[in-house]
Amino acid sequence: MNNFEYKKAQNVAESINLVAGRENTKFLAGGTNLVDLWKYNITNPDELVDVNHLDELLQIQTLPNGALRLGASVKNADTAYHPEVENRYPLLSKAILAGASPQIRNMASNGGNLLQRTRCYYFYDAEVPCNKRIPGSGCPAKDGHNRIHAILGTSEHCIAVFPSDMCVALAALDAVVNVAGPAGTRAIAFADFHRLPGDRPDLDNTLKPDELITSIDLPDNNFATHYSYLKLRDRHSYAFALVSVATALQLDGDTIVDARIALGGVAHKPWRSVAAENFLKGKEATTENFGKAADLILEGAKGFGNNDFKIKLAKKAIQRNCIMALNPDSQEPGAQPSA
Ligand code: SF4
Repeated sequence: MNNFEYKKAQNVAESINLVAGRENTKFLAGGTNLVDLWKYNITNPDELVDVNHLDELLQIQTLPNGALRLGASVKNADTAYHPEVENRYPLLSKAILAGASPQIRNMASNGGNLLQRTRCYYFYDAEVPCNKRIPGSGCPAKDGHNRIHAILGTSEHCIAVFPSDMCVALAALDAVVNVAGPAGTRAIAFADFHRLPGDRPDLDNTLKPDELITSIDLPDNNFATHYSYLKLRDRHSYAFALVSVATALQLDGDTIVDARIALGGVAHKPWRSVAAENFLKGKEATTENFGKAADLILEGAKGFGNNDFKIKLAKKAIQRNCIMALNPDSQEPGAQPSA
């Protein structure tokens, strides 16, 4: 690791000033991914601006419009176990607890969870080409070891997946990301926050370099009764998803009034299909209809050899998770793994 300067900002405005216009200065929250990247020589900041302790970023509060605001520096574990999250957004709580390990969840921040980078093996090996690290250098994953890679939304430049569990639930719940920067504040719809790789796989999201995530808003909804998060992975604990599914349903008897389905482990961002969700509205909550929705979600899916299995796995996972969402209380113990 290189030598670096550590600074502790007194408030959000000061932290933004300390980072603005300084290319190799980074915000430090939990550091659970940043320090990994640093140790692997993938990033080498000259300066860190610590935002862990800022009161403005440490609140979880209900807004006048009923939305729940999650501070960006609140730890993932504190978010998952917060009573308002458990009661009103249990899908989010389940997704967070399916991620990483208890130690990492105790350290990782909400804002940092959105900013973690892909776990593609080649990206973490500074000795090999990778378009995400060095644009234009190539993508060895396409013809190499790609078992964990994407089947949706890929480009010729990158087939990496975004690794978060928390963000899959945030996508399904239509969260909004609040950010602050030198030009002021703005709110970004969750669907617009993470990017597909296109011809700029080096850009993971639409955050500007000197913008800071300050909070994440969860709109009020009717998804606290029928929900499920299913994570399929090689190991029951402390492993990234091969495929994960967040499902939230609003039912009137057996009829689906509203549906949200988001996938993790299959694309460069949490994957949602509005066409599939619209298909389910007004339909009976049956295995057959969930299967048809899964087909719509997986339309255009493409494997790269080692990861071809993900297409069938994702279809089955969507169908199974939708059935599990009908009755979250009866979910089998193995279906909601904790680390
Ligand atoms: Fe790099 Fe993306 Fe290719 Fe992985 S998939 S080697 S991150 S360009």
